Amino acid sequence: MSADPARILGTNGSNGTNGSHGKLSAVELPTRHRSQPTGLDAAPDGPLLEAAARGLLLGVGEDPTRDGLLNTPSRVRKSMEALTAGYRQDPRDIVGDALFDVDYDELVLVRDIEFYSLCEHHLLPFFGKAHVGYISRGRVVGLSKLPRLIDVFARRLQVQERLTKQVAECVQDLLDPTGVGVVIEASHLCMMMRGVEKQQSVTRTSTLLGSIRDDRDMRAEFLALTHSRA
Ligand code: ZN
Repeated sequence: MSADPARILGTNGSNGTNGSHGKLSAVELPTRHRSQPTGLDAAPDGPLLEAAARGLLLGVGEDPTRDGLLNTPSRVRKSMEALTAGYRQDPRDIVGDALFDVDYDELVLVRDIEFYSLCEHHLLPFFGKAHVGYISRGRVVGLSKLPRLIDVFARRLQVQERLTKQVAECVQDLLDPTGVGVVIEASHLCMMMRGVEKQQSVTRTSTLLGSIRDDRDMRAEFLALTHSRA
C-alpha cells in the first residue's frame, strides 16, 4: 500500500495546542477510539526520535559517527513518523463522503487486505491480512476506504487483538450496520526473529459484533468466507 499523505499534524513544529488544527480538532471521535494515546493533537517529536535512534546505536556498541550510520537517526525518525501516522489521522476524514445509501442488507466482505503494523512490546513489525465484513443496514462505504481505515489503526503501536477490535468498532460507528466481523491473520517478527523463533506461526484474531456475532448462520457464513482459500 502506498504511503498515504493523509493529514500529518505538527510537522511545522507546532505543538498541537487546542484549536490550532481547525477541522480535525472539531471532529468528535467516540471515546473508545481514544483508549490509547491518540496523538490526534500530538505532533511527532523529531529531535527526541533522532536522539533515541542515536541512543540505540550507541547502546548496541555502534559508532553513530561512522559513514553508514551518519544519517541513520534522521532516517529512523522519518520512518517512525510514517509508521505511526495513524495517531494523527481521523477515520472520519479518511472515509470523507464515500458513504452511500444503498438498498442492500446482505454481507459485504473485503478479504485479504494487506497491512503492516508495529508491535508495541518490541517495536518490531507484525503484518498480514485483514478481512472486514459487515451486514449493511442500507449504508455502505466505498470499498477502497476499508484498507485505508485499517491503516489508520495499523500505523500506531499496537497489539493484534486491539487492532482487530478497533477496526470493528470503527466500522460499527461509521456505518451503523447490523453486524460487523473483522478477522486478522498476522506474522509477528518478534516471534519469528527472536524469542520462540516460530517462523511459520500465524496469529488469528477476530472481533464479531451484532448480527454477525449473534446470528448462528451469519456467523458461520462470515467465518467460512474468511477461511476459504479460494
Ligand atoms: Zn512483540
